[in-house]
Amino acid sequence: MSCYAGGCHCGNVRYQYETAVLPEQWSVRRCTCTFCLRLAARYTSAADAQLALTVLYASMVQRYEFGTKTAEFLRCARCGVMIAALSGNDSARIAVLNVNTLDDIESLALQTAPADFDGEVLDDRLARRQANWIQGVTIDYVNA
Ligand SMILES: [Zn+2]
Repeated sequence: MSCYAGGCHCGNVRYQYETAVLPEQWSVRRCTCTFCLRLAARYTSAADAQLALTVLYASMVQRYEFGTKTAEFLRCARCGVMIAALSGNDSARIAVLNVNTLDDIESLALQTAPADFDGEVLDDRLARRQANWIQGVTIDYVNA
């Protein structure tokens, strides 16, 4: 496993992303939905991956939902950077990571492809997430 660090701009949200998949083989998806287009967000996940998030101030993160409301976008309220999309609950949380928030993004040879999930029925969407999203997700809050 290799570990990649990242976070928001101001340091309120930090994370460690662990996977054995080499960066040049990561699946990196530029989501073409109306929300992600506005942010130019690009997402990755891998079946073996672990994402450990540390939030310095819980009151300084926001979660945004739209559409089917089966995922929420975790955003730092101080600097505005969107880190990840989360689904599920504390005991079974899955996620995709916005690769633009990786510390050393410039040094990683990532291959980005567009992804269009419009028109996908809800059951297919949830099944796809279970199969493809990061399964090992933890969020540690340092201060309330
Ligand atoms: Zn921030």
